[in-house]
Amino acid sequence: MRHRLDSRFANPERWPAYYLVRQRAIASAVAKAVRRSDPQRRRSQEGSTPLGGSEHLLTARSGRLAGRPDQFDRNTVTEYKSALPDPDWAEAASIVDGYWRQLRLYSVLIGEMGSWPTTARIVAASGQVLEEPVNRTACEAEADAAISGLDAMNRALSAGCDSAALASPGQVACGQCPYLAICPAFWSWCEAGSWPELREPAACGTLVSVDPGMDGDLYAVNVSLKGRHGVGGVQSLALSKSVHGDLTSCPSGSALRVVFANLRPDGRLRADISTCVFNEADISELRCGSIPFHSAEKLLALPGV
Ligand code: SF4
Repeated sequence: MRHRLDSRFANPERWPAYYLVRQRAIASAVAKAVRRSDPQRRRSQEGSTPLGGSEHLLTARSGRLAGRPDQFDRNTVTEYKSALPDPDWAEAASIVDGYWRQLRLYSVLIGEMGSWPTTARIVAASGQVLEEPVNRTACEAEADAAISGLDAMNRALSAGCDSAALASPGQVACGQCPYLAICPAFWSWCEAGSWPELREPAACGTLVSVDPGMDGDLYAVNVSLKGRHGVGGVQSLALSKSVHGDLTSCPSGSALRVVFANLRPDGRLRADISTCVFNEADISELRCGSIPFHSAEKLLALPGV
């Protein structure tokens, strides 16, 4: 909870639709407990060693592919998601494609244990379920592509390639990337182009002044932003120390980065619970150097890869 990216969500009751999702989780747990206590089902499981589990670390391809499927059994591999993307979002299809890709790789991990699942499922906290048959050929091809991507990246790093040169910034990939604030490739791409229209906009600029506020929590930073979000001059971002951290001691002139912001109808930015504002001086420099990735799991956590 001390990390800036996590502390925003420290209070679950402020999450969107928290009580709805909580009720759904309770209902699912009750239904599961009833199924488990069914004597006929218990008898059918006794004597057989079920292949399956939750969050077990599985490896395949000599340990080079690794992952923890949320849940699997002899027939089904299931990935739980807090929410499915709104179909109206430009990146919705790409996000769901990423989920299926994850399930293809999990199927390989399970398949190498000796029994391929037949069905892949995505289950959202809302209760919505997406289901597809597992295509073994497509899964094997996905795993081959992941391993060759890993090899290519390690070869480039070993040859002294700058890590930022390996990145492929793009509107869809960067828009869902948790590394946005620290990624040099992303900010260079924004500066060189016309600042992408992200669903949760990002911008950088200069701190003009701070309004410290009255209650010890709420305050405002007045910033001059570059690019499309800075048109119209200095703008005020209302922040909360308990959600966004305390920037009240930043000197005027500090370089700030705003990520996962909210767009107002007038094109200016607003900070919501997802928004992070960083003083550039506090951001670590990202350097991969020549340290190789050991498995494709970490590599595939980067949505642009
Ligand atoms: S997707 Fe790649 S280029 Fe974009 S912010 Fe993430 S790491 Fe950087």
